[in-house]
Amino acid sequence: MTTTIPFLDIAAAHEELRGELDTAYARVMQSSWFILGNEVTSFEAEFAAYCGADYCVGVGNGLDALHLILRGMDIGPGDEVLVPSNTFIATWLAVTQAGATPVPVEPVTSTYNMDPAQIEAAITPRTRAIIPVHLYGQPADMSPITAIAQQYGLKVIEDAAQAHGGTYRGKRTGILGDAAAFSFYPGKNLGALGDGGGVVTNDPVLGQRVRELSNYGSKQKYVHDLAGYNTRLDELQAAFLRAKLPVLDEWNKRRAALANRYMTQLSGTDVVLPVVIDSAESVWHLFVVRVKDRERVMRTLANAGVGIQIHYPIPPGRNGAYAGTPAAAIRCPIADTLSDEVLSLPIGPHMSSDQLDRVCEVLLVALKN
Ligand SMILES: *Cc1c(COP(=O)(O)O)cnc(C)c1O
Repeated sequence: MTTTIPFLDIAAAHEELRGELDTAYARVMQSSWFILGNEVTSFEAEFAAYCGADYCVGVGNGLDALHLILRGMDIGPGDEVLVPSNTFIATWLAVTQAGATPVPVEPVTSTYNMDPAQIEAAITPRTRAIIPVHLYGQPADMSPITAIAQQYGLKVIEDAAQAHGGTYRGKRTGILGDAAAFSFYPGKNLGALGDGGGVVTNDPVLGQRVRELSNYGSKQKYVHDLAGYNTRLDELQAAFLRAKLPVLDEWNKRRAALANRYMTQLSGTDVVLPVVIDSAESVWHLFVVRVKDRERVMRTLANAGVGIQIHYPIPPGRNGAYAGTPAAAIRCPIADTLSDEVLSLPIGPHMSSDQLDRVCEVLLVALKN
């Protein structure tokens, strides 16, 4: 008998909120207003309030959120931006799209987040900003990062695509730097039913610039002050996100309970568990462990019907997209090792503790063989 344990059960999430999502859809259909209307304006206000920020600007996706922040800060050709050596490639691509150069900084091996102690060595006279990523849901160690940024006059841009609701020293992600980029890709902790993204900031000038850039560089219809883009959150997705935002904290709590259970069940084994620093609370977007002989362990889990993934099998700088660029020439041994060892186990607000126990059982058997 094989029971399948999905990596993330999005269908169950939507089943729980079917009534709210149906109402959201009906509201937008009824209004028949699809771009830049009340749903987006309301979601922006609600999500900004959730983060404790002054402004949120809905955009098309998380990559564009990062890109527009960089553009809004006038970061471009000739500039360097510090990025984690181990992140989803979008963090790097945003810098590249802005015309600037991504410069990798290695993580702390135990937390997977950017190592503040490695930052200064990467700073040059061309450095303009640091993009810490709250990887797998855990806020990066922001205090030392912002202290270095202040000392060198750099901007701090949070890549919060995996950490909606995460906190650092009691403050939510979104207000831990100069601006933050969120993704509402369906699989994220707060996910739409399609693509979506948001820029969160307390800086009114930057917020306004991002808003203009996202909408053809226009403040007033058919008047274009900037050579902008078309990357907006649409009404339907905003309505769905408004239906899902009220349960975000509850769903993050369910993830945390599962993470604790994994920690208990897998402690004292050969599985290397994730470490959360004292000042941070993770929202457990992913539960990432490290194992030796990963290929074999993965096969066993897959054969037992356990959905597993790798985040990420190739560090951004080792991808073909960066072949021959200066970033690819920088040695990143920690990112290389992590990409060989990390393994993401199933986690999500609709996973049961029985399912989790089964994953642990299969994993521990696989390790013994
Ligand atoms: C998902 C993600 C992004 C990009 O978000 P999209 O909405 O898919 O464009 C950026 N950075 C990180 C760390 C992500 O996980």
